[in-house]
Amino acid sequence: MAVPFRRVSSTRRNKRRTHDKLSAPTLVVCPECGEYKMSHRVCKHCGTYKGVKVK
Ligand SMILES: [Zn+2]
Repeated sequence: MAVPFRRVSSTRRNKRRTHDKLSAPTLVVCPECGEYKMSHRVCKHCGTYKGVKVK
């Protein structure tokens, strides 16, 4: 079995898994229908964005 040539320092080891975890999308209440929707997205429920019907 391969043996590590050099010990990885604690700083290098701790830098390995520093990437941010996926976070839950920010939910806002739609002003048109009152349903939860993702912010900066067209409302899935009523299809409006900033009070304008998109679809
Ligand atoms: Zn809506």
